[in-house]
Amino acid sequence: MAAGFAFFGTCVDTPRLGEVRGLEAPSLLVVSDGRISQRCMGAEALERRRQLEQEGVEVRVLEQGEVLLPGFIDGHIHFPQFCFAGCGIDMPLMHPEGFLAKYAFPTEESMGEVERAKVVYRAALEVLLHCGTTTAVIYGSLHLGASKVLVDVALERKGPRAFVGKVCADRYCPDTYVEETEQSLQDTEDFIQYTQSRRTGSEAPFLVQPVVTPRFLPTCTPKLLQGLGRLADKYGCIIQSHLSESIDEVEFSATLFPGQTDAEVFHQFGLLKSPSMMGHSVQLMQGEEELLRQNGAAIAHCPLSNFFFASGALPVKQLLKRGVKVALGTDIAGGYSPSMLTAMRSAVMAAKTLQFRHVKGCAFGTESEAPSAKRAKNAEAPAGSSEDELSHFEALYLATKGGAEALDLGHLLGSFEVGCRFDALRLRSQVGPMASFPASSQADMLLKIITLGDDRNVKQVFVDGELVHSL
Ligand SMILES: [Zn+2]
Repeated sequence: MAAGFAFFGTCVDTPRLGEVRGLEAPSLLVVSDGRISQRCMGAEALERRRQLEQEGVEVRVLEQGEVLLPGFIDGHIHFPQFCFAGCGIDMPLMHPEGFLAKYAFPTEESMGEVERAKVVYRAALEVLLHCGTTTAVIYGSLHLGASKVLVDVALERKGPRAFVGKVCADRYCPDTYVEETEQSLQDTEDFIQYTQSRRTGSEAPFLVQPVVTPRFLPTCTPKLLQGLGRLADKYGCIIQSHLSESIDEVEFSATLFPGQTDAEVFHQFGLLKSPSMMGHSVQLMQGEEELLRQNGAAIAHCPLSNFFFASGALPVKQLLKRGVKVALGTDIAGGYSPSMLTAMRSAVMAAKTLQFRHVKGCAFGTESEAPSAKRAKNAEAPAGSSEDELSHFEALYLATKGGAEALDLGHLLGSFEVGCRFDALRLRSQVGPMASFPASSQADMLLKIITLGDDRNVKQVFVDGELVHSL
C-alpha cells in the first residue's frame, strides 16, 4: 500500500488511562488511505523519515510548539441547542419554567422548519471542527426531515463523524412538540434505514451512523421504549439517552416506573448494551453501576452541564477503575461550551470537588470528610482520597480513547495505533494567552494547551486522513 503522507514530531496519544505516549521523543506516523499504517518513535522515526523523503513521500514536520493529537470525541451534544448555548443554565431542568420548557423544547421544535435546521446544523458542524472534534454523538430533534438533513450536511462537510439520533418522545412534552408512539417508531426506522443507506464504505467507523435515541425516561412510554429496543437490536444501532441525570429527573422517573431505577428500565427494554451512551449518570442508585458494567454500557460524562443541573460530580476515576466505560461530552447546551478542551478542564475540576472538605469545627459546614465519603462507601478507595483525582492527561484520555472505547470503536478511533483511522488535530501553542511564555517541556506545552487553549490553537483537523479544517 502506498503511503499517502506522514507526520513527524510530537505526536501524542493516550492508549490507556494514565499512559501518555509521544512526549519524550519525536514520532513518525505514516497515513495511507486514511488509516495509520505505520508508527515509530525516536531514532527509528528519524531514520524512517529520511527514507520516506528519499522515496518522495510527503513528510509534514510539526513545528516547535506544535503537537498532534487524536481527534476529540464528543460523547453527548444536542445540535438544535447550539441556538441558545450560554442561556437558561440558571434554571432547574424540569420545572414548568425550567430549561427544557423555556429553552430546549421551543428551540428544538423550530427545527421542524427544514431550511432553518440546515443552517443551524451546518454551523454547528463547523464549530465542532474548529474546536478539534472529529466524532460527535448527536441529539437532533423529534423531526424525521431535520434529522435526515443533519446526516446530509455532515456527509457534505466530510466531518466530524456524525452519529445522529432522531430524538424520540411520546409524552410529557409540549402539545406541539410530541410524537404518537407508532409514528415515532416508524420515523425512527425510516431514519435508521436512510442513514445506513448513506454510509460510505463497507465497514465502521462510518462518517454517519444512526443512533436510537429515547430522549429520557420521563418522555417515553414503555411501549415506545420497547419498540426502540427492538429497532436497536434489529439494525445493530448505537443507543443514547440520559440516565439518572438529576434529582428532579430521578424523582419523576421513579413515579413513572415505580420500584425500578433508570438503568433497570433501560435494561428491561434492551436499551442498555454495548454500545450505549448514557448521559450524566451522576445520581446513580444502588445497582445501576453494576448494570452498566455488566452490559458494557458507557456513561457520557458531561461535567460542565453537571455543575448546573446534576447537583453533583461523577466519581469518574473510581468508575473507570471498577470497569465502567466513560466518554466525555460537552452537552451543548446544558453545558455552554462546544469545546472538548473546556470539557476536559471541567472534568478535572469536577473531580476536584469530590475532595472538598471542611476542617473540623469550620463555620461553613459540619462534615469533616469529603462529600464523596458517603457515596463511595462501597468503593475500595478511601473517600475523598487522591483516588478521585483526575489529571488533565487522564481527561485527554476520556476525550479521545475513552470515547472510542465507549462506542466500541477503540480499535479504529481515539489513538495513533497502527490500523486506526487518521482522525487528528494539529495544535499550536504559539497563539493565545500562552504565546509569549513558551513551555520548558513538551508535557508542559500540551498542559498549557489543555488548560488555556481554545479554537485559535487548533491549526488543522483531519477526518479519515482528509484535511477538513485549517487556520
Ligand atoms: Zn443531554
